[in-house]
Amino acid sequence: MKYIDEFRDGATAQKIADRIAAEVQPGKRYSFMEFCGGHTHAISRYGISGMVSEQVNMVHGPGCPVCVLPIGRIDLAIRLALESGVIVCTYGDTMRVPASDGLSLIKAKARGGDIRMVYSATDALTIAQQNPEREVVFFAIGFETTTPPTALAILEAQRMELQNFSVLCSHVLTPSAITHILESPEVRQYGTVPLDGFIGPAHVSIVIGSRPYEGFARDYRKPVVIAGFEPLDVMQAILMLVRQVNSGRHEVENEFTRAVTRDGNLQAQAMVSKVFELRTSFEWRGLGEVPYSALKIRPAYATFDAERRFDLTYKPVPDNKACECGAILRGVKKPTDCKIFGTVCTPENPVGSCMVSNEGACAAHYAYGRFKDIAVVVQPATAAN
Ligand code: SF4
Repeated sequence: MKYIDEFRDGATAQKIADRIAAEVQPGKRYSFMEFCGGHTHAISRYGISGMVSEQVNMVHGPGCPVCVLPIGRIDLAIRLALESGVIVCTYGDTMRVPASDGLSLIKAKARGGDIRMVYSATDALTIAQQNPEREVVFFAIGFETTTPPTALAILEAQRMELQNFSVLCSHVLTPSAITHILESPEVRQYGTVPLDGFIGPAHVSIVIGSRPYEGFARDYRKPVVIAGFEPLDVMQAILMLVRQVNSGRHEVENEFTRAVTRDGNLQAQAMVSKVFELRTSFEWRGLGEVPYSALKIRPAYATFDAERRFDLTYKPVPDNKACECGAILRGVKKPTDCKIFGTVCTPENPVGSCMVSNEGACAAHYAYGRFKDIAVVVQPATAAN
């Protein structure tokens, strides 16, 4: 398959792995955070950690959109469906994220809530057109990739003069989250999470370009390499990061030139800034309140803002005590550090958000990596009497 097979070629992957092994400096450890859930999935699926040098440590970051959604936001959507009789529309993975009182959107649907899975914001708009007598709320989540379609849906709703459509906006921003991680005590003071550089997200960067990462690469002296999602993309990005670290550089480099430019998609950015403005603070699961890290709907489009329309008040809710998602999202722990990984918490019965989407660190490790951590013990065969 053109443009896919080229980036999954095993012989080329081995050559890049050999190059990384040749270029890592003796005795030195390299820790790189892949911010994006798509990269987490690729690293687990293709066994990239096992291919590259043992001196390279990949740290999962908070780049899975359903993983970072705090319980309190899901509770708001559930309340809209169960208490206000609203049709709530959202993406499939969002429906399975655990919320308060043992509920999730899918369990609330089983209790009679009219909650519908959609593939796009436009689908939610269509449902609003088809149900003029009902209120329809699109529960919008995700990073900069999914924000332009939500903006477009709001502009379309305005053009069509729809009276029954609004958006519960939970869109978050990548660069502020990376800055927040670099400011966290674990990285700055405790040194428990050494970070030498970042693999920058693919889809997000198509929209925002590579320019937004330049400030913190310079200020925090951390290299960033933006990479595509295929295994060779990720391995090439690791090699580029190793080279930057070896030469003491901290620049933004772009491995994904086939899709990402320095300025990104200006048309999409203009549409987003027309409809949305920055929130002063937003709670992320695992990271707590992160300043200027999310978007809300501008007052000019207030009629399409579900938070105003239904007078919703956000209430933070702590995670399940057994769940280590917060530490995993900050790069402090790995999935296998969680006592209930793979036993009580599985993709069929997720206790924490990281087990829901295949971009979540726990789900990716459950699907592709869990057996590699188990020591193989060969027992000598005993002769039958
Ligand atoms: S295994 Fe489940 S409960 Fe534990 S950290 Fe992962 S998602 Fe959270």
